[in-house]
Amino acid sequence: MNISTEHIEQLQGLLNGPKKIVIVSHTNPDGDALGSSLALAEVLQQKGHSVTCIVPNRYPYYLKWIPSLERVIVHSLDEEGRAERAIGEAEIIICADMNAISRLENLGEAIKANHSAKRVLIDHHLSPEEGFDVMFSHPEASSTAFVVYCILDAMYGKTVFTQTIATQLYVGMITDTGNFAFSALTPELFRAVATLCETGIDIPQIYNNVYNSFTEGRARLFGYVINRKMKTLIKGTVAYMSLTEEEMRRYWFQQGDNEGFVNYPLTVKKMRMSAMFTEQHGFIRVSLRSRGEVDVNTFARRYFNGGGHRNAAGGKSFVSMDETIRHYIESVNEYHEEGLV
Ligand code: 5GP
Ligand code: MN
Repeated sequence: MNISTEHIEQLQGLLNGPKKIVIVSHTNPDGDALGSSLALAEVLQQKGHSVTCIVPNRYPYYLKWIPSLERVIVHSLDEEGRAERAIGEAEIIICADMNAISRLENLGEAIKANHSAKRVLIDHHLSPEEGFDVMFSHPEASSTAFVVYCILDAMYGKTVFTQTIATQLYVGMITDTGNFAFSALTPELFRAVATLCETGIDIPQIYNNVYNSFTEGRARLFGYVINRKMKTLIKGTVAYMSLTEEEMRRYWFQQGDNEGFVNYPLTVKKMRMSAMFTEQHGFIRVSLRSRGEVDVNTFARRYFNGGGHRNAAGGKSFVSMDETIRHYIESVNEYHEEGLV
């Protein structure tokens, strides 16, 4: 990955002397959001800075084991106002694994209110917004954790990677690549993994912690969704599924339990695109996945006010589940007529 020397120097300039730093990441934080934020925090703290990690809402229970996760402040649960205080006092705000302040929901307001802090973006999503003082935007990277790895390597060398930091980064790398199965896998990424491996991280244990630590309810909900809720369009090449709050309650739903469901229809050979609609308080979360050239980033932007990557994107819908599904079917048909799916 080509990390700009100029940007590294700019970042080093900002980190000249102990600084108050806030690291924020996107709503519905995943392994990459958490792993990248924590690894950065760990190193910056080691270098004498004071660092606060903040996410807008809760993370999935099966990621709770990630080293140092307890230091992450969940803004929606933060009754004492620690997050907003830290943002108000911050000299540097680092946005990790997100391309727009709007991805922070309410937390975005607090960040906009701090006019003096320098803003740094470290990300791999397409179409980053403007307004950052230093930008490491790498849509070609498979995870933000890999971008963080390259930045830390460029700034401090490989001795900076302790076993804790390596575990945090490895979680980000596997969760965003489906355990090294999706696109953008490069020799350089595997060389980075080799370096992390040399710190003695327990790869099978990390895999088990991330992928084999769900509840029984999650397993049964998954069976229900695939068997009863998966519908197909365009001769079985486009799928969609939905989950209402009532259905989630039936299976003792916990935050994060539906993570990854949207990928499953793509295990069918001819499937090209998949969508999952999940009812949340006041809106419907839209998750999209695709294969090869089918571009769900454009689809999410055009039809669901969202975005993401070519093969993994998301958005929101503020109408009922039935209307959302109707809108999806019409949009898929339009996309199909244009030869895009
Ligand atoms: P997921 O389906 O896992 O929630 O999200 C897949 C990808 O789409 C992630 O890279 C995520 O950042 C992006 N994404 C999900 N929801 C939204 C959204 O509402 N707006 C934008 N811009 N991107 C989203
Ligand atoms: Mn990511």
